[in-house]
Amino acid sequence: MDYWQERHLENKKASLARSDDYERYILNQSQAALKEIQLVLHKWLNKYALSTGMTIESANKKLRGKSLDSWYETLDHWEELARNGRYEGRLNLAYYRLQITRLQALEAETQFVIAKYADLEVKSMENTLVNEFKQNYYRDVYEIQSEKATYDSNFDKYTDAQLETFVNQRWHGKNFSERVWGNFVNDLPQELTTAVRRGILMGMSNYNIIKHASAKFQEFEQYKQHRLIITEMSHAANEASYKAYKTEHIEEYRFLATLETKTCAICGDLDYETFAVDDRKISVNYPPIHGHCRCTTVPVVKGEERLSHQRWARDPDTNKGKYIPKQTYNEWANSVGLNDI
Ligand SMILES: [Zn+2]
Repeated sequence: MDYWQERHLENKKASLARSDDYERYILNQSQAALKEIQLVLHKWLNKYALSTGMTIESANKKLRGKSLDSWYETLDHWEELARNGRYEGRLNLAYYRLQITRLQALEAETQFVIAKYADLEVKSMENTLVNEFKQNYYRDVYEIQSEKATYDSNFDKYTDAQLETFVNQRWHGKNFSERVWGNFVNDLPQELTTAVRRGILMGMSNYNIIKHASAKFQEFEQYKQHRLIITEMSHAANEASYKAYKTEHIEEYRFLATLETKTCAICGDLDYETFAVDDRKISVNYPPIHGHCRCTTVPVVKGEERLSHQRWARDPDTNKGKYIPKQTYNEWANSVGLNDI
């Protein structure tokens, strides 16, 4: 790996570190969500499950029954309300108007608690992805120009609004915010409710049911959220690189599957391969290739480009080429001691 690739890789490593930082922040946030959920479970278990001897069989029957479709339609509607921040106070209506089973009520209540955190996560993630895009884009442009020894302000610059549009674009059919909502509002409450249902069927104590459901929550954070954050951060960083390649007229990029000491197992075959920038296909020859993918790319700057600038920047004392920042002729002449020419 040459000097310039190393320079690019340093930036990519900084990018991974930012991704880890953000994940730590989210994990911290999620502890508050977990506490709220535990409280909901605790109240629910005391109120219904054991005190009145709810029959799980009847709840299951209703869950599998025809009412389920309309139930989920209603949930979609609530989700919409939650998105608009008007979900407070709706929960009681849900209990009484919709004659839902207690497990469904639990799922709905969990959903409402989680919706608040999903909303917070979408906002913090948008900021984080915009920052990630910005840092990678300008760093890449700078490094490419350094490598060519031609500093030039003639490249695309983006406003924050444009960056927000970039990071909100769908890829593989969804954008990050839809994925966060899908994880939190659809998957997690279902997993928690299933854990509670199993716990009751197995005759667990309330304490153990909550413990079991909490473990499911941690698993969700450690696997699904972890995967989502790594993949979305990688996508933002790699899209930024792509835009940098385009604006700097880079024709080829090199795929790198090894960052630090870890090699991405799935992407080993792509490691060090080069591809035309115009032929790049996300998940085929351009990262992220898969969930959890931490692969990256570096630009291929053609030898002739470097050589011409080396000649241009030839040191008259040693007669060796060297890379120097582009300067005006006078500045350059001064720096190499050619004032008397
Ligand atoms: Zn990979």
